[in-house]
Amino acid sequence: MGDLSNVISGERVSALSGATLANTDPATNTEIGRIPRSAAADVDAAVSAAKAALAGPWGRTTAEERAALLDRIADGIEARLDDFARAESRDTGKPLWLARKVDIPRAVANFRFFAGAVRHDETGSQRTGSAINYTVRKPLGVVALITPWNLPLYLLSWKTAPALAMGNTVVAKPSEMTPSTATMMAELMVEVGLPPGVFNVIHGLGPEAGGPLVGHEDVAAVSFTGGTATGRIVARTAAPMFKKLSLELGGKNATIVFDDCDLERTLDGVVRAAFLNQGQICLCGSRLLVQRSIYDRFVPAFIEKVRALKVGPPAEPDSFLGALVSEAHRDKVEGYVRLAREEGGTIACGGDRPDLPGAFLRPAVVTGLTTDARTACEEIFGPVVTVHPFDDEEDAIRMANSVQYGLAASVWTENLRRAHTVSERLDTGMVWVNCWLLRDLRVPFGGVKDSGVGREGGHHSLEFFSDAQNICIQLG
Ligand code: NAD
Repeated sequence: MGDLSNVISGERVSALSGATLANTDPATNTEIGRIPRSAAADVDAAVSAAKAALAGPWGRTTAEERAALLDRIADGIEARLDDFARAESRDTGKPLWLARKVDIPRAVANFRFFAGAVRHDETGSQRTGSAINYTVRKPLGVVALITPWNLPLYLLSWKTAPALAMGNTVVAKPSEMTPSTATMMAELMVEVGLPPGVFNVIHGLGPEAGGPLVGHEDVAAVSFTGGTATGRIVARTAAPMFKKLSLELGGKNATIVFDDCDLERTLDGVVRAAFLNQGQICLCGSRLLVQRSIYDRFVPAFIEKVRALKVGPPAEPDSFLGALVSEAHRDKVEGYVRLAREEGGTIACGGDRPDLPGAFLRPAVVTGLTTDARTACEEIFGPVVTVHPFDDEEDAIRMANSVQYGLAASVWTENLRRAHTVSERLDTGMVWVNCWLLRDLRVPFGGVKDSGVGREGGHHSLEFFSDAQNICIQLG
């Protein structure tokens, strides 16, 4: 991909200061290009372009016309799926097969889904005596989309598609660590006929580029996905300005395995939930709670499967884990492996570096920690899982709910009553039973407690990216 530009009003531009940052391939630790190091003046230019676009032809498009454009974007990404997948794998270090199979197809699906959603969207009407009430939805204006590095295009498209479907214009700030696919998507949008200024991309560091974007007076809403600490900073700026705010934040998700589970199916599901994308998915099951009656059978089988996972170069089709996103992030994850030892845990497998040049780490399983140990409570966002025995349903629910996060959980049992009653008592926004990360784009996605505010998906996203206006007409 080489050097990247900001995309403002359909044009490729550098940061006004001329400053740049390195974009590094974490699997080889080599610089693959430079990106603009944007600041407040660049944000101003992007927001002005987005504001101007609202006043142009885009502001007069119908939902059907916008849906047709979303379909064209989906087709464009699909036609270049391999280029997008290679860029995503190079920026993140994730296996190429994963980018091909999950990240990029999901971006395509996001655009197609929201094209369909806005085509079929309905708003209610109420008859009140001789008056009729009906609701119209209006775009918010310029919206800021700020996204993390773990699923770069997947998450940016998840916000972009509904934002455009509802007629907003966008300034996107992707993670400085994974800038390529956002730029490719912005360039593709120009090719498929999105009017200039409707979708703009600003590259740079969070506080220097993201901060001024969140605080810009012409930005009506901020949709943020990232860490809980950053979410707090974003909320501190946006809330007093009465901006609409969606926060999808961190997680420390419990995987709860009961003794009546289907053992083989559960083992495979739990390994995938723990280590897909190197454990760098906000939904990863990083606290494995296993019923004591099967602990001695389940945990050795789990460790054996984890040991068998191949950590290798992203291009190799049998690499289940690629590199972590950066050396700095690997250092942070290794720090937690050390902490686990200091806290009295046993590293049952992994946690060490394979003989590869990039930011690789073998998947680690930690046993022997209490559930209130820091390693078992703090979000590590890497290939580290702590395992804990529990006695009964009450015990499992108490352990699962004892962390500050409340994003997701998975429950593994063949007992329907247990599946339902345990799920309902978990303080999380989402629960998967006998599966993990099985997604329907209509359902509410989001967390409680420190995992965020708001829900994305289906009509939740369409509502977030619009203002409802009620019109009451007296007919009598
Ligand atoms: P991060 O919070 O460091 O960065 C996220 C984005 O915010 C980046 O684009 C960054 O440049 C920007 N940013 C940083 N400081 C900012 C500031 N002061 N103002 C405005 N923007 C700023 O997160 P990350 O390390 O990129 O991603 C990992 C985190 O994301 C994990 O905590 C993970 O759980 C979370 N995440 C959550 C979800 C979810 O749906 N809940 C999904 C994926 C990732």
